Amino acid sequence: NSKNELDAEIENVRVFIRVRPLSKKEQAEGYSNIVLLDTKENLIVLKKNGENTKPFKFDQIFSENSVQLDLYRMIAYPIVEKALQGYNGTIFAYGQTGTGKTFTMAGNHLKPEVRGIIPNTFSHIFGQISRASGEKSFVVTVTYLEIYNEEVRDLLSNDPNKKLAIRERTDVGVYVKDLMGFTVDSIEAITELLNRGNKNRVTRSTLMNDVSSRSHAIFTICIESKNRIDNKTIIGKLNLVDLAGSERASRTQATGERLREASNINLSLSVLGNVISALVDGKSSHIPYRNSKLTRLLQDSLGGNSKTAMIAMLSPADVDYEESICTLRYAARVK
Ligand code: ADP
Ligand code: MG
Repeated sequence: NSKNELDAEIENVRVFIRVRPLSKKEQAEGYSNIVLLDTKENLIVLKKNGENTKPFKFDQIFSENSVQLDLYRMIAYPIVEKALQGYNGTIFAYGQTGTGKTFTMAGNHLKPEVRGIIPNTFSHIFGQISRASGEKSFVVTVTYLEIYNEEVRDLLSNDPNKKLAIRERTDVGVYVKDLMGFTVDSIEAITELLNRGNKNRVTRSTLMNDVSSRSHAIFTICIESKNRIDNKTIIGKLNLVDLAGSERASRTQATGERLREASNINLSLSVLGNVISALVDGKSSHIPYRNSKLTRLLQDSLGGNSKTAMIAMLSPADVDYEESICTLRYAARVK
């Protein structure tokens, strides 16, 4: 029964696969679908030259027929519930450019059937707040930043080109200096902020040759709830992360600035993989958070009681075999 399923305790780190449909263009160009799924056992295999790769197993695999709400219920719902109870959580969209990271995280907020995880969290959070008893009062605060080339920028600021510094203080931990936080009290207000940030991201991207596919975007929702009776306050933080494209630099034959960029992306994605797998492993005393800005900023939301989900996106097309196998290996190694 679905209610119990949604309420069930989830593991701290879960790894998912989503395969997008073959696009019209790919079909027209005669590319074939090389993905074989067993959605009961959650196994995935890629076909190449009549042979199959070994099966990879994950917490759940979402086929090309999956809809946005399937992912929301399985992946985001329990993490958002935990955030409302004061736990931190992070959802990552990982994968080669063009595989559906932005479609899955943002989707199209104007079309309910393709609304992604981020706008669906808005209705979930404000729905729960409106149903909460009068004993509790909530403050919801949002930040939205981009990490490009190991530089942090505020997507909600009036000057989204300004580089911001990462600082650390013993009382508050790691934070971004001058990052704007906005308090919101409605779905409309938080949607407005998401749109503003996305617009800034697209503008920067157009000026700088598709920066958005080479940057990480972190949309953070901080939920503070105060119990009016005992005056206790709990804070849960939810990070929704659209990662930079995972495609290898070698394939794009990058040089100069592009090569530096590509190696920064490879570095931060591999540090992320190292951090999560060290957390899952549980044996290492040293978690390499400090080796990239991404993991440094998310340090308080990875590990401990935090809930983490990684959604690795795949193209089903034969041309993308090499990238897809790298994505599967990355996702498999994380857990
Ligand atoms: P990424 O952010 O990983 O570069 P996008 O989210 O921009 O990729 O997706 C690339 C294209 O594929 C977009 O046109 C998007 O609408 C489409 N797409 C991605 N995933 C799906 C899906 N599950 N179902 C239908 N279309 C999808
Ligand atoms: Mg994208």
